[in-house]
Amino acid sequence: MPLTALQEICDLALPRSCAGCGEQRVAFCTQCRAELEDAVTAEPFEATPTPCPPGFPVTWSQAPYDGAIAELLRAFKDSGRGDAGPHLARLLRSALAGLLEAEDSCRRELALGGQLLVVPMPSRSTSTRARGREPTVELGRRAVDRSRRLVLRRVLRVARSGRDQAGLSAHERSVNLRGAMRLTGTGRTLVPGRVCVVIDDIVTTGSSLVEARATLLAAGAIEVLAATVAATQRRGT
Ligand SMILES: [Zn+2]
Repeated sequence: MPLTALQEICDLALPRSCAGCGEQRVAFCTQCRAELEDAVTAEPFEATPTPCPPGFPVTWSQAPYDGAIAELLRAFKDSGRGDAGPHLARLLRSALAGLLEAEDSCRRELALGGQLLVVPMPSRSTSTRARGREPTVELGRRAVDRSRRLVLRRVLRVARSGRDQAGLSAHERSVNLRGAMRLTGTGRTLVPGRVCVVIDDIVTTGSSLVEARATLLAAGAIEVLAATVAATQRRGT
């Protein structure tokens, strides 16, 4: 096989630019790797949108939505860079660890030998179809991995598509999402009486987490908390 043809096949199979900054001929450059390590070892923090919407769950996050982390998330979700998943999952795992350590309800449940129900934020059906994958579920599976304290189940689904959330103000997002989530068949059995931890990639205005929490509480969850890879301040009103 000619070398150029071989190279073309390799380019398809192996990413040829950094998922964090676009540097050529490396899948993940030294500088972005260092930025990720800093974020992984940083203290997780409680993320609160400004303003904080009513019903927003206690949410722990691991990194500001900025720099290489923001680019990695975008590349993972929108550009098919599945190779960024393991890196981002480490951030989510750290955020989950922070939540478990800080929150009494989590500690109580675990002390009683229970498991926390980890709930991926459901993908809007159109975006899932377009991508052919569910990035939040992928991250969640890696973050939970072999933990015996956490069990990941897809108990929420999007009931109606509504408008794309991108470009909407905080208020418009919250109106757009009202009543937009339902329990899956599995969820109806699993959620009652459980402490749930909703996971998502980013918390921005908090409206998706408010809706997820309300849906889970209405279904009988005793508490709903959340963990995200990154947190950003809202833009506009
Ligand atoms: Zn880079």
